[in-house]
Amino acid sequence: MPTIFSKIISGEIPADIVYQDEQVLAFRDIAPQAPTHILIIPKEEIATANDLTEQHEPLIGHLVLVAARIAQQLGIAQGGYRLVMNCNRDGGQEVYHLHLHLLGGRKLAWPPG
Ligand code: 5GP
Repeated sequence: MPTIFSKIISGEIPADIVYQDEQVLAFRDIAPQAPTHILIIPKEEIATANDLTEQHEPLIGHLVLVAARIAQQLGIAQGGYRLVMNCNRDGGQEVYHLHLHLLGGRKLAWPPG
């Protein structure tokens, strides 16, 4: 099922894009929960982490590497950051297009609520 993120990928809906390549797109979250809050998404429509298969291993590795690179570029790598992938209702997932949250720029609480 296409989501709002498919429309961001196609350019139908604008987003503050910080990085993209053939496989992934990264853009600023519309409701940031930290001074830096980026969403890194695969261009392929995958609903949740439960839908990942072995064929997605390189893609997910790439997603994480891109997140770490963006953290470097935005100057939060040294201080630290958090990568979060919410899955389904109990995980707090709202958009059913797989995505990685990159959060940083402040001290983040643990455990999450
Ligand atoms: P989830 O709760 O599914 O892990 O995270 C979805 C995230 O997408 C939320 O942090 C929400 O603020 C963000 N989001 C939802 N709609 C839009 C949108 O249209 N544009 C952008 N840039 N972010 C969005």
